[in-house]
Amino acid sequence: MTTVTTDTEPPELPDTFRAMAFDGDALLRPVTMPMVPPGPHELLLRVHACGVCRTDLHVVDGDLAAPVLPIVPGHEIVGTVLARGARTDAFAIGDRVGAAWLRSTCLHCRWCETGRENLCRDARFNGLHAHGGYATHVRVDARFCVALPDGYDDIHAAPLLCAGLIGFRALRAAGPDARRIGIYGFGAAGHLVAQAARAEGRDVFAFTRPGDTAAQALAMRLGARWAGDSTQRPPEPLEAALLFAPVGALVPKALADVEPGGTVVCGGIHMSDIPSFAYRDLWEERVIRSIANLTRDDASGFMALAARTPLACETETFALADANDALDRLREGRITGAAVLDCSVAP
Ligand SMILES: [Zn+2]
Ligand SMILES: [Zn+2]
Repeated sequence: MTTVTTDTEPPELPDTFRAMAFDGDALLRPVTMPMVPPGPHELLLRVHACGVCRTDLHVVDGDLAAPVLPIVPGHEIVGTVLARGARTDAFAIGDRVGAAWLRSTCLHCRWCETGRENLCRDARFNGLHAHGGYATHVRVDARFCVALPDGYDDIHAAPLLCAGLIGFRALRAAGPDARRIGIYGFGAAGHLVAQAARAEGRDVFAFTRPGDTAAQALAMRLGARWAGDSTQRPPEPLEAALLFAPVGALVPKALADVEPGGTVVCGGIHMSDIPSFAYRDLWEERVIRSIANLTRDDASGFMALAARTPLACETETFALADANDALDRLREGRITGAAVLDCSVAP
């Protein structure tokens, strides 16, 4: 049987959409792309907002190779459903939905069948394998979309979809009993997970780039017990360290900051090399682990937390046409909180 790729609804879709695309050069360019109707399991979204994530920088800077160019980055996508594929009934036309990094998986491998779909060998990612949310429109897999809590407008909901989710997965990886949590890199993920940790009664110690007093002040405003430079030792030993800065040298530093049995969680998809360190720094059952991508269970768990506990999401908003400016400022560490593109106006 051939696959039906047309929508069953009668949408009046434009023939094209606009996007900021990466074609191998350092700068994203505004482009017009043909509108393709959603496949059987897909939704076509009118994008309202898309967060700007460090992973997008890794794509643009060549640390993470997109298999096909040009590609439209963006995986913190907030939009409303314009059209649905023939086999999709999870959302209705007009619903607001979120699409995150994990675009789809095979659904039947041993990782997918054991709650670890984030590790599926056939996982596809929005903004890497398929066009993402730096656009007026996007096609996403409905089975991997998530409903967003009402208390967040489009701009403030966007960072929940990667920064929030990755922070949440990192906090879960720290274990339920870790009380004193170090957060290394206090940007989009750090400032959201700090609030999630506080909501769970944990103590937060925030480490920023040396001299980043704005991020340190934000950390203290959000309830951190202590904030300082990443070169400083915390005032007391930590039970877990969550690393969001892509700096390998922070791994042995964080290992030295955690007490016996403590866990160092690396939250980034890319990190500079980790310098060698003495075995005694790892001894006494300290653990170094990474987290990779995220699962739909993370998404539903975190959105439930975000609905119960209003998270203050610090954002800097850019027009979609100014995506390069947003990426530059993120690369230079000149964003406080999360950068978000307003996709309501075509570039
Ligand atoms: Zn799989
Ligand atoms: Zn991301």
